[in-house]
Amino acid sequence: MKILFVYPPSSYLNHSMFKHFTYFAETIDLVSKKYSHISVLDCAVEMKNRNQIYEQFRNADRLILLIEPYNIRQSLELMEIYKFMTKTGRTIVYGTAAALVPNYLSMRPEVDFVIANGNFAEAILHVLDSGRLPVTPQDKIINIEVEHHTWGCSLDTNAPLDLYKYWGNGMFEFTVQVGCPFHCSFCSEKILFPTGKGAVFAQRPVEEIISMLKRIRASYSSVYFSATTFTYDREWVKKLCKRIIEEDCIVPWRSDTRVDCLDEELLLLMKKAGLCQLSLGIETFEDGLLKRVNKHQTMDRIMETIHLCKETGVNVKALLILGLPGQTSEEVLRTQELVEKLEIPYRWKEYSPISELHRKDVRKEDVTEELDSFSRNTFLANSIEGISTEKYMQLLFPEGYVR
Ligand code: SF4
Repeated sequence: MKILFVYPPSSYLNHSMFKHFTYFAETIDLVSKKYSHISVLDCAVEMKNRNQIYEQFRNADRLILLIEPYNIRQSLELMEIYKFMTKTGRTIVYGTAAALVPNYLSMRPEVDFVIANGNFAEAILHVLDSGRLPVTPQDKIINIEVEHHTWGCSLDTNAPLDLYKYWGNGMFEFTVQVGCPFHCSFCSEKILFPTGKGAVFAQRPVEEIISMLKRIRASYSSVYFSATTFTYDREWVKKLCKRIIEEDCIVPWRSDTRVDCLDEELLLLMKKAGLCQLSLGIETFEDGLLKRVNKHQTMDRIMETIHLCKETGVNVKALLILGLPGQTSEEVLRTQELVEKLEIPYRWKEYSPISELHRKDVRKEDVTEELDSFSRNTFLANSIEGISTEKYMQLLFPEGYVR
């Protein structure tokens, strides 16, 4: 069986290269352990002409697409063309969008299978192995719960790693945690890894990370450990840092965590093991709003942790959200003033109503209109009374800001 993995194009380059390394390249690695005829087309990092794409379509028995909310439209168009070209070819979609709107996708004639959670490789293998054809839209939705998350290796695939390195400015980005024990209302992680008997929160084994670091350290300038809450499991972090130091594979690295999962011992150890920047999911400096979005952290704790990071010499970055439900202009401006006073790097990200979208899809309501707003060709326009569009843009894209 000839399989073609496709990362569809989108209007802008995706700066989250960890999705290419982990969601795409690692899934390909796991599937290729069982199926050998695999081709790869990553149109999100490299422009291809139509002939090149169609030639690959013609030769593929299975088309597997990684779809994200911002490339749904392009994905559907590509699948429509593929179906037009081949009578017996089957399409499988996976990724964040597949988990967010499985019912919407299952109604589309160009989609044969929808992988509805984050256990991508297991579910794709299940579809490929079974060879069955769906009869109803509900048959198309594959939602396999697994006891243990299986990790692949993005370095062992034919995905264009050189381009990921180029667009990632020499940084090797890969995921070390999936799922999250917390329940922030604005986050999609619970949709990808829902609570159930499956792997709700899984961490990449320390020795696997060490072996990957050993392989990449000569050719990459830094590493991003993509994590939901990197320091949630202290023992795992301590073991990882100690092994990095013991094996002498220190590369400057960064990751993300919560303010309530840090202490001095951990900060000092991580710094010694190469930590160069820790992004803190602060979201807002407003207690009331933090409570409303179920963040379970307080302003006092945020300030305490930032001061501790400063004392221990750990560089932190504040991750803030603009347009949270009910967020007022006063709340936005107070947070902005405070973060500037703290003199730490920060970035605002636009609130994305993914939970609302998912709930609508669960109710089997039409989500076509909402999907258009995720295209990145527009802004989600979470209009905040008292914040002009000019100010809104200034907050999201301040002059001179490069990720
Ligand atoms: S702690 Fe972070 S990853 Fe976990 S639910 Fe909240 S926002 Fe999502």
